[in-house]
Amino acid sequence: MQNIRNDTIAAIATPPGYGGIGVIRVSGPEAFALVLPLVRRPGGNTDLPPSHLLTYGHIVVPGTQEILDETLVTFMQAPHTYTREDIVEIQGHGGPLVLQRILRLVLAQGARMANPGEFTMRAFLNGRLDLAQAEAVMDLISSQTEIGQRLAMQQLQGRISEQVQHARHTLLGVIARIEASIDFPEEDVPTPRTAELLSLIHTARQQVNTLLAGSDQGRLYRQGLRTAIIGRPNVGKSSLLNALLRSERAIVTPVAGTTRDTVEEIANLRGIPLHLIDTAGITPTSDPVEQIGVERSRAAAASADLILLVFDGASPLTEQDTLVSQELWAMGFGANTHASSHSKGGGGEDERCGPSRSPSGMESGKGGEGEDERWLSRSPSRVGDRPVIVVINKVDRPQQIEIGQLKQIWPGIFHVNTSTLTAGGIHELEEAIITLVLAGKTTQSEGPLVTSARHQESLRRAAEHISASLLTLQQGVPLDFVSIDLRAAYDALGEVTGETASEDLLERIFSEFCIGK
Ligand code: GDP
Repeated sequence: MQNIRNDTIAAIATPPGYGGIGVIRVSGPEAFALVLPLVRRPGGNTDLPPSHLLTYGHIVVPGTQEILDETLVTFMQAPHTYTREDIVEIQGHGGPLVLQRILRLVLAQGARMANPGEFTMRAFLNGRLDLAQAEAVMDLISSQTEIGQRLAMQQLQGRISEQVQHARHTLLGVIARIEASIDFPEEDVPTPRTAELLSLIHTARQQVNTLLAGSDQGRLYRQGLRTAIIGRPNVGKSSLLNALLRSERAIVTPVAGTTRDTVEEIANLRGIPLHLIDTAGITPTSDPVEQIGVERSRAAAASADLILLVFDGASPLTEQDTLVSQELWAMGFGANTHASSHSKGGGGEDERCGPSRSPSGMESGKGGEGEDERWLSRSPSRVGDRPVIVVINKVDRPQQIEIGQLKQIWPGIFHVNTSTLTAGGIHELEEAIITLVLAGKTTQSEGPLVTSARHQESLRRAAEHISASLLTLQQGVPLDFVSIDLRAAYDALGEVTGETASEDLLERIFSEFCIGK
């Protein structure tokens, strides 16, 4: 990678397709020399224009003098640029052919086609951004809700990095004290007092824990929640999808390979991108086309973080309903309902499932009140690790569904009554989702949150090493052993900001970027 870092790269920076304008970006030591001969300005001026000023001109093929486009070009002198290298940006008309031809011209002049994320990688390598900030660039571009965007922007501004650096600084203070006393025992460096070291390490642990505390919530905001709407045909799954999309509709993405049977759209649930997957319905069928739909429904269920299992309240439970449930059980969705209600019965789970935390509007069915209250208060509402919410739809019509029967199939499950026709219960369903997915997690609405699984993992490792160092220190183990864990924690934190990130990791991170960013 080293040898290609100093050449001049070029790419179209705007999305493929047709648009008002399109931008070609060129970065590197030869950027000015390569582009300047291509720009014909009024009056035939060939001087380098002032830095960071828009310059009007035509892009002309040097050999034939063919005019490719009428453009505005900006020459930006290092170091005050995105990559900290010389950059030229050509604003042309936003047609794919025009932009491709200009790009080809720049490449023919000697530039190399940029790899995905290579501009941002240069910004990182040249010290303009640290790694967490560089990753935030892509998060900002791909953010799907305002909260996601705000968090990405905070990360881009260095708010996460700042906190990580505070923790690193604290650790470095401890490491320096320990290592000085080990390295220069004959000089007058006093052996640091255990109490002093303990206090500093506790501070570092607190700093890391603060970052970790909101990270589950942060990841939800960034990654969203894959939510499969499952049920037999005609219970109202598509209607439910539409009902959930009604407000704050975010982005509608027809997923590649989608047929009419599986549709994925994104709803904005108080800042959490809810990736709703409307499935064809799981039903036994001999029709090969329908079978594909059923298979996709199964796959959607298997990959989901959350299942909305829909029943038609206006009809008695059918054999098909039971089959759908059995399918989910077979996938492991129901396998440990009881196990989870017993084994996870401690504080957090109880709080989540207790009536006081139950989302309003959640009903406990037609059975005896007292018994159902207990049923709810015990209910894990998640099977295995993944939550399932039973949605009893069409409650605007006379109800025929047997709640008792449903409880036998799904013992201990949250259920919400909805009518997609009147929108009744939709708010309660959203509350239920929020309650379930944020259950037991620290929630905070302001301030920066760690949103990346990679950062979370590094922070967890740092926290483990810090705890191990506390233990060894308290046990009176020689100080050089303590410093091994402190160093490991220091390095783990450095992975977040990139100081200790490997080449492989950098390649992996930036390869996920768009071309031209
Ligand atoms: P899917 O096959 O499960 O996706 O079900 P659809 O969303 O296509 O709905 C099947 C039928 O049920 C349609 O005729 C809907 O208009 C109707 N439907 C859906 N939700 C409700 C509801 O809440 N109340 C009533 N009365 N009808 C509904």
